[in-house]
Amino acid sequence: MTQVDIDALREKYAAERMKRLRPDGNDQYLRVSGRLSHYLEDPYTPVADRPPRFDHVSVAVIGAGFAGLLTAARLKEVGIRDVRLIDKAGDVGGTWYWNRYPGAQCDTASFVYMPLLEETSHMPSEKYAHGPEILEHCRRIAEAYDLFDGALFHTEVTGLRFDETDARWTVTTSRGDAFTAQYVVLGTGPLHVPKLPGIPGIESFEGHSFHTSRWDYDYTGGSALGEPMDRLSDKRVAIIGTGATSVQCVPPLARSCRELFVFQRTPSSVDTRNNAPTDPEWFKQMATTGWQRRWMENFAATQTGRMPDEDLVQDGWTDLAHRIRERIMAIPPDELTAEAMMDAFEESDYEKMEEIRARIDAIVEDGATANDLKAWYRQLCKRPCFHDEYLQAFNAATTHLVDTDGAGVERIDESGVVVAGRHYDVDCIIFASGFEVGTPFWRRAGFDMVGRGGITLSGHWADGMRTMHGIHTHGFPNAFIVQITHGANLLSNVPHNLSESANTIASILDHAARGGFSRVEVTEEAERQWMDRLRSGVTFLGSADCTPGYYNNEGQPEGRDGDSFRGYPMGAVAYFEYIEQWRSDGAFDGLRFSR
Ligand code: NDP
Repeated sequence: MTQVDIDALREKYAAERMKRLRPDGNDQYLRVSGRLSHYLEDPYTPVADRPPRFDHVSVAVIGAGFAGLLTAARLKEVGIRDVRLIDKAGDVGGTWYWNRYPGAQCDTASFVYMPLLEETSHMPSEKYAHGPEILEHCRRIAEAYDLFDGALFHTEVTGLRFDETDARWTVTTSRGDAFTAQYVVLGTGPLHVPKLPGIPGIESFEGHSFHTSRWDYDYTGGSALGEPMDRLSDKRVAIIGTGATSVQCVPPLARSCRELFVFQRTPSSVDTRNNAPTDPEWFKQMATTGWQRRWMENFAATQTGRMPDEDLVQDGWTDLAHRIRERIMAIPPDELTAEAMMDAFEESDYEKMEEIRARIDAIVEDGATANDLKAWYRQLCKRPCFHDEYLQAFNAATTHLVDTDGAGVERIDESGVVVAGRHYDVDCIIFASGFEVGTPFWRRAGFDMVGRGGITLSGHWADGMRTMHGIHTHGFPNAFIVQITHGANLLSNVPHNLSESANTIASILDHAARGGFSRVEVTEEAERQWMDRLRSGVTFLGSADCTPGYYNNEGQPEGRDGDSFRGYPMGAVAYFEYIEQWRSDGAFDGLRFSR
């Protein structure tokens, strides 16, 4: 690629970004509450009556998605019997409970993404498993570890308060429960509160509408299992948003609707998927003891540029890492500066994005539509997408891309959607508008923890998130947070981060049980030292040069609390090595255990 190309691309990227920058940032989105709260109702499981609980458990695990399931499973393995899952959903599964839109599929290879495959002897049916299989796998984990027993579903935690006299937490909920737990685990997830675009007139629409995370199969017909959505055959349907969710559900919608209008503000980058069924013979040979851990470690190492001899997963995530590595290797040793490495990274990115844009021209028959589908930003500015049917869907005469040239939908009225003054009459609007990301942890969790001496989590984190290992926070004894920042921060395989935290928490509680301790808390000093260590590296705020999106706080990265986006300065693999050593040496440095 010549220098001239790069300059032209830089200019184009900057121009496209400018079109999308808006002063209201995150405030452009509507909070789903009040008159909009019907968008949150659970369409999948009826809410069953149950008496409130006033008992005591050893561990209350808030959130029954991957974080909660993994931690609860590991706690069971170390012999803790009464572990209670609590979730606002009607079952286990978290993200995979809510996101049952047609075509939902994991974007990271099943072998490294689906937790506890080895422990549950499950072979993923495809390299990228579909949603129903992943949800079923969540149930398999809950069955295998006896986690349904005592679980509280359709239950929102409303309060969590530490009582110093007996070192217990009181958990209060939307169902009138007020029970106690010696330990609490927060696996509340980052992407589970749906948001709606603040489009003028959104409440005036008189047709049917729903958010992708509450798919209304009663209206569309069909099912998450892929049965055709036969009730859409006479419907004109709008889908607003073209992020990772939309990319997956547009192809089945395109096959079902009388007409489908895809309203696009910013195109996603859509690379090849190359999904394939798993060959059981290959799997049998490959899946020897410890296989999943080896695969997860290999993926993390490859994707973060450590380059082990073999790339087991071989996909779009690792491809980019290989390219960058090759370019860096080509730099003569005496010219190998940090700047030269960043240039190599940038050049690989331009090359990759040019390929992705060329793929659109090769697939999409209409030239204008093909042009509108092209993404003009660096690949990691937004969540990279991979799909082998999305672009093809626009070749159907009944599928229409309505590109808004970065401006977004202008207006919604009682009968449809307006863009650039043109009215599109529709029967149904599907909001593929994503989830709250930039809002504070306690707002998304739905409660503010009250720790020792009445200190609130919002107060303790008023100047930014403070933890040790992303798990412990001073002033909140016997409470553990399971999430990805302040640890490995490995975005390409989130469950890997959660799995390590689950192992760590299980080791700590095992140690407490063996030593007869009833209370464990990170010291103020250890928390401070950990934050100092994190601050010695760079923080991932999302690049200001990127097109706006939730990765860069809608184009306002400087408005972010930097501490909330930090990871281990030496990288994900180094963190995994560090934390394994930390939990194995028996010292549990930084924690204070007491009776
Ligand atoms: P996103 O937040 O990624 O996408 C929201 C979409 O809505 C964007 O295309 C956005 O445009 C668009 N939008 C917002 N406001 C307007 C407006 N006024 N007019 C028109 N369009 C508008 O949400 P998703 O649900 O797609 O994905 C969220 C995250 O969930 C992903 O990034 C990924 O992390 C995860 N996910 C993972 C999957 C997997 O692993 N298999 C599958 C699906 C999701 P703009 O880009 O301009 O802001």
